[in-house]
Amino acid sequence: MAGLYIHIPFCVRKCAYCDFLSFPQAEAQRELYLSALGEEIRLAGRLFPAQGYETVFVGGGTPSILEPGEVRTLFQTLRQSFSILPDAEITLECNPGTLSQEKLEEYRASGVNRLSLGLQSAEEKLLQEIGRIHSFPQFLDSFRMARQAGFGNVNVDIMYGLPGQDKAQFLSTIEQVAALGPEHISAYCLILEEGTPLHERVGRGETRLPHEDAIWDMEQEGRAALAALGYARYEISNYAKKGFACRHNMNYWENGPYLGLGLGAHSAMRLGGWRRWENTRELESYFQAIKAGRLPIQHQERIEEKEEMFECLMLGLRMLKGVDRAAFQARFGRDLCAVYPEAVEALCAIGWAEVQPDAFMLTEAGLDMENSALLYFLED
Ligand code: SF4
Repeated sequence: MAGLYIHIPFCVRKCAYCDFLSFPQAEAQRELYLSALGEEIRLAGRLFPAQGYETVFVGGGTPSILEPGEVRTLFQTLRQSFSILPDAEITLECNPGTLSQEKLEEYRASGVNRLSLGLQSAEEKLLQEIGRIHSFPQFLDSFRMARQAGFGNVNVDIMYGLPGQDKAQFLSTIEQVAALGPEHISAYCLILEEGTPLHERVGRGETRLPHEDAIWDMEQEGRAALAALGYARYEISNYAKKGFACRHNMNYWENGPYLGLGLGAHSAMRLGGWRRWENTRELESYFQAIKAGRLPIQHQERIEEKEEMFECLMLGLRMLKGVDRAAFQARFGRDLCAVYPEAVEALCAIGWAEVQPDAFMLTEAGLDMENSALLYFLED
């Protein structure tokens, strides 16, 4: 299993809470970027070992900001440079307010078979508060157009812990979204990131976030509501109908190989040993590297086996199914429970983890405390 990630860093405008690598686009800059990205894809296609990719994820930013012809060219270049398996999961991230029927038809024609729609909330006031560019009716319109274009695998992103949000509003968003029947729902807690306008507003006392007890209630009741509506939780923040867990993200959490292309994209792959690298986050350096015929890599590191094992745990324990013991054994030649005997025993003793013949997983209580649970493994 290997995944391809493509980063499109442009957005219509920056949301108040966002610290992703994204910025408002200028058309000329977008054209230059797409041309450089095409070069990087061709270069990477020649340099990296040939393998069949089972997932492609075009993320951002707002990839749906691109014109239909630009998306077509992007996928043509990807298919000419890499072997993308016929049954690959191919996702494109979209924002309501940037979609049209024509764009969606083009995505289908280009082989995109999964859409991820960023809604965040069904409350107009909250959407404005966090600086989203769209309204709830625009989201409904986007969802309807996606179905009309034939998309049978759609994710909707929603958020809790938003400024001024209460539990009833979050539960109402869940109900209104679930009523549409998307195959997948991601429910993220707002993280107040330094350097964002929202962080400054909160710092000046102009905006208040919900109290942590209220956030806890939203999380717990939201989780129960999603379960009652047929969405099974399979990762800390991700819920899906049966058979619709995101394969691309599952590969990340299984610490599988992926190749990231585009500004600031990350990669991990076994080349000799397990290696990670990331592309430059500066647009000018990105253009210069591509112009010079080089991959725009800014930093790379070889991951030692001990760290690789810990990464497998750190990522795998995010999933409800936990870490696959046979896969761990095949990768490292040792059983996970024999590598971390004290941590496994201690976590099981306090009810945060469970050992089963085929997996080691956190319980619901352990998942709520994932960061603390991981500390046990650092001590081994
Ligand atoms: S649309 Fe997404 S990537 Fe773009 S600014 Fe908003 S949160 Fe950030």
